[in-house]
Amino acid sequence: MTDIALEESLVQARERLMNALERAKRPFDSAALLAVSKTKPASMVRQAWQHGQREFGENYLQEALEKQAELADLDGIVWHFIGPLQSNKTRAAAENFAWVHSVDRLKIATRLSEQRPTHLPPLNICLQVNISREASKSGVLPEEAVTLAKEVAAMPHLVLRGLMAIPAPANNLEEQRTPFAALRQLLADLQAALPDAPLDTLSMGMSDDLEAAVLEGATLVRLGTAIFGARTTR
Ligand SMILES: *Cc1c(COP(=O)(O)O)cnc(C)c1O
Repeated sequence: MTDIALEESLVQARERLMNALERAKRPFDSAALLAVSKTKPASMVRQAWQHGQREFGENYLQEALEKQAELADLDGIVWHFIGPLQSNKTRAAAENFAWVHSVDRLKIATRLSEQRPTHLPPLNICLQVNISREASKSGVLPEEAVTLAKEVAAMPHLVLRGLMAIPAPANNLEEQRTPFAALRQLLADLQAALPDAPLDTLSMGMSDDLEAAVLEGATLVRLGTAIFGARTTR
């Protein structure tokens, strides 16, 4: 993708988010764009940064660390880890990211808190919820989320910010809204159970379902294909 094409798709992604917020009658600053750069080269992340993008999401630790090393000069860049996290990778995540969206069990959270360097601010955490109850998918089950949230909220080097989900594909806007509405309700349950936690984040919506997610209150939409083009490699 050329620099001009990337700038164009970033502008379009921002317009798409603004239109979705307008349709939802929500303030223009109530949701942000997370650019998902997995499989894309550091040069494209740099271009997106040059066009004003600051929040980036990565799925694979090793790939992310290589890009971060190349992009260490970019002021204000914020790295989010959004992929599945095994316990032997938690240290690298704790040391090199500002956010982890994919916490779905106590062991991972405990390790992230223990391994978060104390000179850094606490690691922002979203619990990943298996909102469509798919047997093969990661994520805590909805009925187990409040218990895990209480445990995470008590950890010294983590700050629990909210919930993330990747719903099963659906065919139309109304069907897409159902799991996002359930995630929104679950965040409300967490807010009631943990009134002191800064639970302000619904990480939901991707290139195919951004509008439905924004209608249901998404605060961080994770766009890959819509910004960087189709992924051909891993
Ligand atoms: C790849 C990925 C995205 C982006 O998906 P697109 O459909 O390319 O926008 C968002 N969230 C997660 C967790 C991902 O793995």
